[in-house]
Amino acid sequence: MTTAVAGSRLTEIVERAEALFPGGVNSPVRAFRSVGRPPIVLERGLGPHVWDVDGRRYVDWIGAWGPAILGHAHPAVAAAISRAAEKGLSFGATHPSEIELGEVIHAAMPSLERLRFTSSGTEAVMSALRVARAATGRDLVVKFAGAYHGHVDSLLAEAGSGVATQAIPGSAGVSAAVAGSTIVLPFNDAAAVSAAFGANPDQIAAVVVEPVVANSGVIAPRAGFLEHLRETTLSDGALLIFDEVITGFRLGRGGAQERFAIRPDLTTLGKIIGGGMPIGAYGGRADLMELVAPAGPVYQAGTLAGHPLAMAAGLAMLAELTPERYGELEAHTAELATGLIEAATAAGCAVAVVRVGPLLTVFFRPTAPVDASEAADSDRNAFARFFGSMLDGGILLPPSPFEAWFPSMAHGPAEIEATVAAARIAFELARS
Ligand code: PMP
Repeated sequence: MTTAVAGSRLTEIVERAEALFPGGVNSPVRAFRSVGRPPIVLERGLGPHVWDVDGRRYVDWIGAWGPAILGHAHPAVAAAISRAAEKGLSFGATHPSEIELGEVIHAAMPSLERLRFTSSGTEAVMSALRVARAATGRDLVVKFAGAYHGHVDSLLAEAGSGVATQAIPGSAGVSAAVAGSTIVLPFNDAAAVSAAFGANPDQIAAVVVEPVVANSGVIAPRAGFLEHLRETTLSDGALLIFDEVITGFRLGRGGAQERFAIRPDLTTLGKIIGGGMPIGAYGGRADLMELVAPAGPVYQAGTLAGHPLAMAAGLAMLAELTPERYGELEAHTAELATGLIEAATAAGCAVAVVRVGPLLTVFFRPTAPVDASEAADSDRNAFARFFGSMLDGGILLPPSPFEAWFPSMAHGPAEIEATVAAARIAFELARS
């Protein structure tokens, strides 16, 4: 399977990993299968860079898949984690830092009147759905093709991220009954949403949506689409769940709900709020969250939920995220997008560079996709050639055509220039 250089630590580590883990990895996209290369093994990061086990340095646009918005090993975050660790790792009792981080999140996203911390985004989404079903007494949930909401059984149908990368329609091992409780619709298709509610009146518990799709590559919501979801759910008595695991604290402190001025009933968070430590959170209307045990009958718990190290890391990270720094991040991402477009044009390579705030994807198709089926209609082989050339040039991209790039506040003009310079060569190769 691996073809890395003989004698390198990388080859040896990958071989041992393949003997232990399915596909050699603990999360599918890390296996690099869709780009036809051996995976990389990273052991260090600083600011915008990461280093593999053979000491090769890369400009990193994966950003830990979102959390590394300050770059790697940010000193304030690292120091906060060390300080917390010295006082004990985890107690299984309430810790003051949980309240502090909860208050910071509530202040930034007021729709989370009450919230609960979990240990992953998957758990957050799973729990939000449970609350929605309990609150409405309904079973059906609407999701959009190409969205990824974690590996929640019922939401794996036509999912994005690794599911799309492996080109599989969903997951084996999900019972027909569970899969049957999900209605999958095309993103950005308001008429399809209305039709689904028309066909299933008073039966849909919730619509769960990535307000900006980031797991089929980046797909922006059409003007009015999120508003349509808000109005339709309200008039039917269903709930609107914004999955802001990626967009929360990335599209600004208030996430997508602030940017598009829509107040969802429930929100899920993860990634950035934990500063790089394992985390998730769900929250929303007080009357809904009061259904959660021990206040109410919806059971949800976690041994490591509200972990002091994750709280400390999250607090340190969120303290750095000022409006000014978001402005810089967005400006840098716009420069990167412009540079990539120029490089592609010069190489005669037809791509669409889609950017929403500090999220970006280069689609190997001529126009920006409006939904997952358009995104899937991209030239995967051209992407694989582009990816490989970039990697050889010291630029690490998400190893899938259906993932977002995650710029950080540590990326500056030097990294953008290096990336665009490598892209000039890579687009030439992608075209051939
Ligand atoms: N929701 C979205 C929008 C995500 O992008 C992800 C993970 N990439 C999840 C949920 C699941 O989060 P986790 O991997 O922490 O379980």
